[in-house]
Amino acid sequence: MAKPVLVPVLGDQLTRTLASLRGRAKDDTVTLMMEVWDEATYVLHHKQKIALVFSAMRHFAAELEDAGWQVDYVKLDDPDNSGSFTGEVARAIERHDPREIRVVEAGEFRVAQAMAEWPDKFACPVEILPDDRFIASISEFRDWAEDRKTLRMEHFYREMRRKTDLLMDGDEPEGGKWNYDHDNREPPKKGLFAPSRPLFEPDDITCEVIELVQDRFGDHFGNLDSFHWPVTRDEAEKAADAFFAERLPDFGQYQDAMMCGEDDLFHSMLSTSINLGLLDPLNLCQRAQEEYRKGNAPLNSVEGFIRQIIGWREYVRGFYWHFMPGLEETNELDATRDLPEFYWTGETGMRCLADCVRSTRDNAHAHHIQRLMVLGNFALIAGIDPRQVQDWFLVVYADAYDWVELPNVAAMALYADGGKLASKPYAASGNYINKMSDYCGECRYSVSKKTSEDACPFNALYWHFMDRNRVRLEANHRIGRIFATWDRMGEERQGEYLESAEKFLSSLQPASKGWARN
Ligand SMILES: Cc1cc2nc3c(=O)[nH]c(=O)nc-3n(C[C@H](O)[C@H](O)[C@H](O)COP(=O)(O)OP(=O)(O)OC[C@H]3O[C@@H](n4cnc5c(N)ncnc54)[C@H](O)[C@@H]3O)c2cc1C
Ligand code: SF4
Repeated sequence: MAKPVLVPVLGDQLTRTLASLRGRAKDDTVTLMMEVWDEATYVLHHKQKIALVFSAMRHFAAELEDAGWQVDYVKLDDPDNSGSFTGEVARAIERHDPREIRVVEAGEFRVAQAMAEWPDKFACPVEILPDDRFIASISEFRDWAEDRKTLRMEHFYREMRRKTDLLMDGDEPEGGKWNYDHDNREPPKKGLFAPSRPLFEPDDITCEVIELVQDRFGDHFGNLDSFHWPVTRDEAEKAADAFFAERLPDFGQYQDAMMCGEDDLFHSMLSTSINLGLLDPLNLCQRAQEEYRKGNAPLNSVEGFIRQIIGWREYVRGFYWHFMPGLEETNELDATRDLPEFYWTGETGMRCLADCVRSTRDNAHAHHIQRLMVLGNFALIAGIDPRQVQDWFLVVYADAYDWVELPNVAAMALYADGGKLASKPYAASGNYINKMSDYCGECRYSVSKKTSEDACPFNALYWHFMDRNRVRLEANHRIGRIFATWDRMGEERQGEYLESAEKFLSSLQPASKGWARN
């Protein structure tokens, strides 16, 4: 055969219609898939995350082969595996002597940098294609962002609605409003029941991968025996079908609700499949819209779901590339405290945090409000070093890739970018958690107490955060008024809050071992 085209397919590019494969002749193409040590260990990922990516890759390779593609698959324990993408592409060039390399741009800055060196490194031409599985290209976001003073998601989202024609009535938004978030803040009612998501039993391929992960990454964070993620497109479609049929109608109203031991509630649990490329985000939004048009789901749920995907997901990806490199270094609030040990062990009397860490350890997942308003909020108001928090979030979630984790953590949860993404810090006292969850009732701390030994630590930490960041935040019109409340308390009361927070902060144990990085 004439020299083939070599198409490296990365672990989060498991899409049959990937730009590098689309329209290619199968007998003229070698698809290269690589399990490499560098990617599995640049942070010490949750065991389920490694198992998910490797299993989904192996299933995807089999699917391509069944469809007649020639796949060159390098397993992690291949004795000649060089451990890096660049090393593996170099070895594949020796094996296949390709006339060209075609590859879709990497999702993460770190990998994109390595890939940018390929044209100089390799003797054959290298074409790097845009990842058109996203609705907005990186340059489209840049054009949108360039001359704006503020980069609010809501404005970007409206552009995406117009571009995709989702929930549009001519030039106007369906129902007359762009955003139904106001209807999506229902606290959980007692006895609230959410149908459980389908759990997928590991097949032979997944079992083999689980064994490999146990063997090679056994000391990483997280449980492996509760692995039930979809690992193929068919399974992911089944998970999506169940979500649309059973949970979408209530997705909206309970989007911000939290219940102890209820890990999924009405969330789709589809982020792992979307981020791997098993599900098409636009198609999911079209399906949600169909449910609304058929009268099966209310507008607030469907708009809420669509906004998460064509709004937030697209926006954070554009934001990432707009501010990289540099976003990973930002620390506008000068937060320097070490990440507490309980983020890894779950051993804390704070019931909300203990439950979120438990879900994270067992499922490699926590839902959005748990990530933002419990785990993220605590790190924000306790002043934890953003680099350590970023590492934690990147390690522990099965859906975590730098492009989506970093903006969510650094900019949304920690305000480390100084407000480029969020108009104010998402800082909250115990009151918010109490309103939106059933955590507080059985907590050893009392949410209604402010500064005593048994007072909810979020309460004093909230004021400690406001006080120490006053100079930075006072001019912000969305929270400036809070300082009037603080001032009205008087020095004695303020002193009690600050002392209580200081005492609590000094009791925090920093992580005792390097869970995130070697
Ligand atoms: C501190 C923090 C860290 C996060 N880290 C990640 C991460 O590493 N990877 C990740 O995919 N999401 C991350 N998110 C966003 C969000 O929490 C998850 O996408 C969501 O919890 C996944 O569960 P789900 O599929 O059930 O989502 P649903 O609640 O059902 O939402 C539907 C879909 O919308 C998308 N989505 C929703 N919110 C966001 C968002 N803020 N950014 C990007 N996409 C969004 C996801 O694709 C999700 O599957 C983070 C959020 C916060 C606050
Ligand atoms: S009382 Fe405070 S620490 Fe306890 S669950 Fe409620 S918010 Fe969390």
